[in-house]
Amino acid sequence: MSESVVTQKSVEEETKRRRTFAIIAHPDAGKTTLTEKLLLYGGAIQLAGAVKARKNRKAATSDWMEMEKEKGISITSAALQFEYKNHVLNLLDTPGHEDFSEDTYRTLIAADTAVMVLDAGKGVEPQTIKLFKVCRDRGIPIVTFINKMDRPTKPLFELLDEIEKVLGITAIPMVWPIGTGVDFSGVYNRLDKKIYTYDRTPGGSQKSSFQSSGIEDPNLDSMFEDWVLKAFREEVELVEDGIGKFSLQDFLESKITPVFFGSAVNNFGIQLFLDHFLEIAPPPLYFPLKDGSRLDPVTTPFSGFVFKVQANMNKAHRDRIAFLRVCSGKFERGLNVNHGRLGKQVKLSSSFAFFGQDRNTVDEAYPGDIIGLVNPGTYAIGDVLASGKVPDLKPLPVFAPEIFATLSCVETGALKSFRKGIEQLAEEGILHLFTSQTVGGGLPVIGAMGQLQFEVFRRRLQDEYGAPTNINILPYQVSCWLPEEDVAKVPVGSNLVVDSINRAALLFDSEWEKGYFQKKNPEIRLLDYPTQE
Ligand code: GDP
Repeated sequence: MSESVVTQKSVEEETKRRRTFAIIAHPDAGKTTLTEKLLLYGGAIQLAGAVKARKNRKAATSDWMEMEKEKGISITSAALQFEYKNHVLNLLDTPGHEDFSEDTYRTLIAADTAVMVLDAGKGVEPQTIKLFKVCRDRGIPIVTFINKMDRPTKPLFELLDEIEKVLGITAIPMVWPIGTGVDFSGVYNRLDKKIYTYDRTPGGSQKSSFQSSGIEDPNLDSMFEDWVLKAFREEVELVEDGIGKFSLQDFLESKITPVFFGSAVNNFGIQLFLDHFLEIAPPPLYFPLKDGSRLDPVTTPFSGFVFKVQANMNKAHRDRIAFLRVCSGKFERGLNVNHGRLGKQVKLSSSFAFFGQDRNTVDEAYPGDIIGLVNPGTYAIGDVLASGKVPDLKPLPVFAPEIFATLSCVETGALKSFRKGIEQLAEEGILHLFTSQTVGGGLPVIGAMGQLQFEVFRRRLQDEYGAPTNINILPYQVSCWLPEEDVAKVPVGSNLVVDSINRAALLFDSEWEKGYFQKKNPEIRLLDYPTQE
């Protein structure tokens, strides 16, 4: 066998055993807890502690990290890699706070599957809806984990209905719980009719599992309270009669979401979930291309795209990192690749995997893996790198900001670092940086999805660039992008802004005002996403 055949074979094998996924959830639903437990089952116990440590980190390295701690949210995001049953799982860590939606959205694009965590007592919450839509628009299949089953829950059929009505996707239970809240005592696996019982002692977990002959199995009678068992049997009958069976094809086409029930904090239902997950979650997909076709991960030489850029990951290093998702082929450290946007070759010599503040050199990576590249300003979000011809990947979505402010440096002496700071931080994509003739009186205008983004920006300019900054919120709440050819048609005096790569947007005080503008200027197209060229 020639060397290239051997390489192709190993790329195929490595690709097949990978699962790259992200967890989407409304804050407090249990995303951190589930992440920690998944790592625990992956045998990465020491890592599991580290996830927790993020929430109450003592030795914060900067004020910005301090803020993350104060708010108990995760502002930075990275990817965690762990092995489970001979599979390599790449878990993209998406910030959960609603203000970080744009960053989160972009990270989702790097995932092949999303795990939607719902709080059984709360059902589908606002942040879940937004994140869900991004996944569905992108064709990313979604698995649902209904968490906190040990607490009072909404009626279970109501929860399934809510998923269908609010999210427009059919919910197919893969397991069914035996009791809920204080009576929660196990789950029944619909596929193989196995029963998994739950130990209700403090900090409990899975107690035992056994093969039943089905829900009528007489062995169950002595194991559970009569009325819990009666309700369970009735419910399963309803499920079997009224809800269809799981179809892998429908799941991959985002027509259905398989549903699991459990309690992350009590370690229950996680392993069962993970085992199913390996079976149904797709290995790194044939990545979508601009023309609607897909990129073959195995036969195409190395390619990947930058979905996140972050400055000052580590204050001691003071560097910027670009996170790249491998889409095809094998990555090897030192590889010379073509940089699509710059139209030149670059050598990928500094590649890392991150875990919080720790970094390890990565020598090779396969489709689905995430690598961090030291970024001396070479890489921007959306850049595509490839060892052969640069593929035309489907572009990352860019969202229209919803709040705006002007930015001014309060110390003339710090102007230079102020400029450098806003440029670098805007490059990370944590917010949009605009200039305008009409808005903001000549000051840079920033746009974001939420106010917390502004606060992080201000703190980081101060901490990392030594530039004290004033942020003045502007009265606009709605924006839309303009196609290049329509910019000249915009009436004088409109709130026209332009971003760093010359994409124009219009700002409005309200949806009503936007509607009025559209009525008056029907020839101007107002877009939710900017045109990508
Ligand atoms: P995140 O904001 O989505 O990351 O949520 P966390 O994982 O931090 O969980 C929020 C809170 O819910 C924490 O106090 C957890 O201990 C708690 N929690 C998580 N999972 C469960 C569960 O299965 N049952 C109960 N009762 N509490 C849970």
